[in-house]
Amino acid sequence: MQTKGGSLPEVKRQNRIKIKELIYKNAPITRTEVAERLRLTLPTITTSVIEMLTDGILREKEMPELDPHNPQGGRKPQYLDIAPTFAYALGLEHGPYHTALCITDLRGDIIKSETYPPASQNYDEMLADTAAQIEKLMTQSGIKKEMLLGAAVGLPGFIESEHGVIRSSARRGWNGKSFASDLENILNIPVMIDNNVRLRAAGEEMFSKQKRPDTFAYYFISKGIACPLMISNDVLSGKTAGAGEVGHMVIVPDGPVCPGCGNRGCLEAVAGENSIMDKCRAAMSEGKAPILSKICSDISAVSMKDVLEAQRENDTAICEILHKAVYYLAIALANVINLISPKTVIVDGYIMQNEINRNELASMARKNLYGLNDKEVTIEFIPFSKLSGAKGAAALVVKRFFIEK
Ligand SMILES: [Zn+2]
Repeated sequence: MQTKGGSLPEVKRQNRIKIKELIYKNAPITRTEVAERLRLTLPTITTSVIEMLTDGILREKEMPELDPHNPQGGRKPQYLDIAPTFAYALGLEHGPYHTALCITDLRGDIIKSETYPPASQNYDEMLADTAAQIEKLMTQSGIKKEMLLGAAVGLPGFIESEHGVIRSSARRGWNGKSFASDLENILNIPVMIDNNVRLRAAGEEMFSKQKRPDTFAYYFISKGIACPLMISNDVLSGKTAGAGEVGHMVIVPDGPVCPGCGNRGCLEAVAGENSIMDKCRAAMSEGKAPILSKICSDISAVSMKDVLEAQRENDTAICEILHKAVYYLAIALANVINLISPKTVIVDGYIMQNEINRNELASMARKNLYGLNDKEVTIEFIPFSKLSGAKGAAALVVKRFFIEK
């Protein structure tokens, strides 16, 4: 896994990174195409490619299906791709509902994964548990430490990725802690941390089986709501890493107070999962949600899963609560689209499992767009997965420690 990167002259090193990145994004691709796209000479490409083939980073093969007209007997072109099992990445997400972690190969295929209940609010406990969970998964996967590029952890809130510090999260005991270096000291592998939704966007950009446009928005709807923007293959951060925090955009002036930011009527306060659940519990206690009450008679134990089931079974009060929440989510989405005009918006949210919510979000957002038609912006819903955040974290590891190294 060790490459000779450090000893190469800078220009050569930079070229190698560009070649690796281009092949990662565009494989299968020939050396000639790589040379043309990067405007470098074929011998320059070949020198680098041979080195990377020798190191085991790349592989090369004939692909007759891509050359149907290649004359018989001529030398068939060789297509380059990265070798997906050259190295592995570990990603973990400390989400509000669970901790999830996985080890992936360089293409994001999961080798081994695990989920746990949400982490402890106590920082030292959380740190020790995180390290133990990672070490356990590594043992179970059979992937040796030398084969692992590193680990990344996604967390909700303001995360100073550059310094590896948790700046502000709902789990207040974690705030101000140098989580990345603390974890690195225990595990003895490189560790990065970032906001969990930004990592989901990175995961979509790197590991998606379909090619993503250079600019897209990733609308994540959970207890927290965020919409990071991927611009030219990088997540837009803003000065304080807060860009994309649409959850605290005011959507109903003088609306209810948001426990997260303290302002009134922000999106999370009117459409976040906590707000939806509060309203559903209130409807239950007033005897207005008979179907939901039948699904789960214990108000304190009712879950979003139950709420979505009640919506599918047409519990009027529950349908109305979700309809309103989705309306606010759609207005916020339309505002985001009107502001930045992304080619694609990827929507990821547990409540979007119900088709009616997907349809209402898309149609109400479209109704509020200015001067854009259906073909100019695609709103795409991705299936909910407990592992999306962990996979996104692994994607960051591949990006920083494999491609950009
Ligand atoms: Zn707020």
